[in-house]
Amino acid sequence: MELSHRGPEFGGILHDAEHDLRDLLRVPDNYRVIFCQEGASGHWNMIPLNLLQGKNNADYVETGYWSYRAIEEGRRYCNVNIAASNRIDNFCALPEFSDWQLNPQAAYVHYCSNETIDGLEFNWVPDTGNVPLVVDMSSHFLSRTIEISRFGLIYAGAQKNIGPAGLSIVIVRDDLLKPPAPGTPFLMDYQGQAHAHSMLNTPPTFTIWVAGLVFKWIKRQGGLSAMEAHNVRKSDLLYGYLDQSSFYRNRVKPGDRSRMNVPFHLKEPSLDEVFLKDADAHGLTQLRGHRVAGGMRASIYNAMPCEGVDALVAFMKDFERRHG
Ligand code: PMP
Repeated sequence: MELSHRGPEFGGILHDAEHDLRDLLRVPDNYRVIFCQEGASGHWNMIPLNLLQGKNNADYVETGYWSYRAIEEGRRYCNVNIAASNRIDNFCALPEFSDWQLNPQAAYVHYCSNETIDGLEFNWVPDTGNVPLVVDMSSHFLSRTIEISRFGLIYAGAQKNIGPAGLSIVIVRDDLLKPPAPGTPFLMDYQGQAHAHSMLNTPPTFTIWVAGLVFKWIKRQGGLSAMEAHNVRKSDLLYGYLDQSSFYRNRVKPGDRSRMNVPFHLKEPSLDEVFLKDADAHGLTQLRGHRVAGGMRASIYNAMPCEGVDALVAFMKDFERRHG
């Protein structure tokens, strides 16, 4: 934590972190990797400031809480066309691509590929033709293989599968790096950050160091395809149990369910607090659903071992037996 960010030691840490990340994701040479201090939320402003390029329209897809937050910020800068929304379905299923109303003149299309609170995940990548595809991958980044070249810009906050909070990562295609809108704060200029190798100011050195260790750890696990198999196994186990139980319920359409975030409700909500307290006593913590969703949520990111999900399912079975 005391290393100078301009010194050779930290230079090596930053270089290795970027190198390992590129290796894991097979990032093509025409994409730049930027380490930013803003959380994922900061990009809701940086994206329009950098990518509108004088245009006044952008497409946004609404699939849950986090994509909606991006829409609200996008509206500060341009006319937001909601190209698709599943609000009418109560955020229980992703909107079919054939129903998306994309504007071919839009500056970009923004969506969130894993809705952390609602528990939906895209297993497919929308084809937006020549309009750059911009994606918030915060809560499933590095949990599965992806094809970077399908995207114009990918961003992800660190505090799920990357490392401690205080960092976000952007992977952006070269041709989208242009001078931002007049008045853009210099730290929010993607082109400036890319040119300065993420060092327009002091980067979050400790967080980048930990992220670099995580990238090496993922490589040792066998890379992203091994990570994906691990996450499929955990989520299949949990959803499999939820689906055969009439005591618990997950309301998301099976093909659209997140492998990372599994929200569930008890049929009898008055038992929620008993469930949480009892789970806590069994060492099963952090299961309370997000304040906007209620109920429970098991976030089973990369670092959660299979044994963690085994233990949760065993506890849930026992709780059902005692209270069902
Ligand atoms: N997008 C998604 C998908 C998220 O899950 C979160 C945080 N949980 C955010 C954006 C906001 O991230 P931050 O708090 O780092 O700004």
